[in-house]
Amino acid sequence: MAAKILQTTALTHKVMGEYYACAGKTPGRKVAWATVGMPTELLVAADMDVLFPENHSATCSAKQLGTKLCEMAEAAGLSQETCSYTRADLAVRLGGPSPYGGMPKPDILFCCTASCTTVLKWFQDIARHYGCELVVVDMPYNFSGQITDHSLEYIVYQLEEAIRRIEAVTGKPYDMKKLEQVVALSKTASDYWRKILELGATKPSPLTTTDMLINLGPITCLRGTQAAVDVYSSLHDEMQVRVREGYAAAGEERYRLIWDNIPFWFALGSTVRYLSQFGAVLVGATYLFHWVRKLEPHAPLVSLAREFCTTVTMNQSVAHKIDKIGGILKAYQADGMIIHSNRSCKADSLGTLDLQREITKRLGIPVLMVDGDHTDPRAYSEVMVQTRIQAFIEGLDAARAARAGA
Ligand code: SF4
Repeated sequence: MAAKILQTTALTHKVMGEYYACAGKTPGRKVAWATVGMPTELLVAADMDVLFPENHSATCSAKQLGTKLCEMAEAAGLSQETCSYTRADLAVRLGGPSPYGGMPKPDILFCCTASCTTVLKWFQDIARHYGCELVVVDMPYNFSGQITDHSLEYIVYQLEEAIRRIEAVTGKPYDMKKLEQVVALSKTASDYWRKILELGATKPSPLTTTDMLINLGPITCLRGTQAAVDVYSSLHDEMQVRVREGYAAAGEERYRLIWDNIPFWFALGSTVRYLSQFGAVLVGATYLFHWVRKLEPHAPLVSLAREFCTTVTMNQSVAHKIDKIGGILKAYQADGMIIHSNRSCKADSLGTLDLQREITKRLGIPVLMVDGDHTDPRAYSEVMVQTRIQAFIEGLDAARAARAGA
């Protein structure tokens, strides 16, 4: 069967291009920068343009700007140990190259600590750089993936306080009805996203993980907008057709693999091509599940607090992370998993040795660990990664036979 082009990708590129091109251009409209783990529906409901330095740095990495930007940031004083998203962002703020010419100056910063504490220091630096408001929402640590009542109250209190700070910046009273509408749009997009991931587990895989990662932009940056709903409704419809037709997006699926941790964006394509030589396909990525959220428009603050505190795995126990990832591997009928031990993202790389051991022990699924970085190519070796992949693939048949005989 001839390879099909995923039509929704063109829509995603259009929507994301317009998003960056239009941000900060409407007179009187305020600009916010936020961390991806922050409930930015609060800002969208206040008619702000919301930008995400993490997404912008990832795009810089995919466009092969990582080395230049990281070197610029280090020359300006940042350590090579600092997250390369942070380094890339500082370099762009200092005039370094960006596919979009940088991001418009923020009026307010929105930072949440669910992912890591690097974001806190990073956003403090941005606040000093631009002299603007910084709102920090502290997300408590969870052991079980279930949030306690007092944690929920603590976050809701901070979101109410954040709304008062937003009112001070916009000079307008906050419209809670508008927030309900925005959360309803966010819920619709997230529901489509969840269904798309469920369809993505079909064998053969109707779309590749590269397709999913390319189409991740709107659920990250445009939550709470009709544009995001349009993208994921289109993607969902396209996937339903592909599943009905039994379409195999990556052709032969000799080995179905799951990716863990943020990819090395600058080398994702070459890694996928190398895997394809062995009939190995990345059919899913644990990272994609961070955006599956069960929002309730009639209780916007409570549901935003609960979901944003429990859907990323960085503020959960390693045991909970292992259970969640084990479920994904089973749902996708995976033959193996590749963990990216990400030099920059220590938060998401914590517990990877436990994850590797437990997944192999509980499910009999081989797990490969490769070293790299999501934005800094100097911390990545293509030869090393490919050598490890080759050795890993050789063991997959034996592991599959052992699982079948167990
Ligand atoms: S360390 Fe990880 S979670 Fe923190 S800013 Fe970097 S990529 Fe994001």
